[in-house]
Amino acid sequence: MTFREQLCEYGRRAVELGLVIGTSGNLSVREGDRIAVTPSGVALDRLTPEMCPIVDLAGRLVEGDLQPSSETPMHLAVYETTDARAVVHTHSVFGTVVATTMTELPPVHYNTLLLGGVVRVAPYATYGTPELAANVRAALEGRRAALMANHGGVSIGATLEEAFEATRVLEWLCEVYVRASGVGKPAVLTDEQLTAVVERALNPPEFPRA
Ligand SMILES: [Zn+2]
Repeated sequence: MTFREQLCEYGRRAVELGLVIGTSGNLSVREGDRIAVTPSGVALDRLTPEMCPIVDLAGRLVEGDLQPSSETPMHLAVYETTDARAVVHTHSVFGTVVATTMTELPPVHYNTLLLGGVVRVAPYATYGTPELAANVRAALEGRRAALMANHGGVSIGATLEEAFEATRVLEWLCEVYVRASGVGKPAVLTDEQLTAVVERALNPPEFPRA
């Protein structure tokens, strides 16, 4: 699958899973110094490969007739400072609920470690601006995902598949937190408990053969 075909495939999945609605949300994949990104103003389940613009690292349009997503500066900022090869941005419901009420996603489940640690909420700035790009870049430091205050979430990966999976993990964690908060006060894992999980994952016990 070409990178542009991948954008179509994962765009469809994002809509199917309810991670985005309408024309919200955007995805990109990097190959060398070129970035294929979803276009502005087209629903992610209506994309064709030719619709997806290709830009260079400075954000100049290299190929395509449609304008790149308005959030392209954020994607470029992430590529500039990380080794990510794909970025997924959505306005998923539970992620946005947490991003509207908290400054970080409390680690109520050890799966938060799949995202590199406690997920930060980047301070609010107008969509598409360099300020928002800078805030997201800072919130992503050492992480595979971040939330964006009063806006949504963003995930990165070595492939689009990986970045998309991180988006699903982020939304799952946010849903667990939000639903748990409706039942009672969620217990939050301590630093020690999270460290113990990392140690366990690094040294899995071997089951003896019968
Ligand atoms: Zn957005």
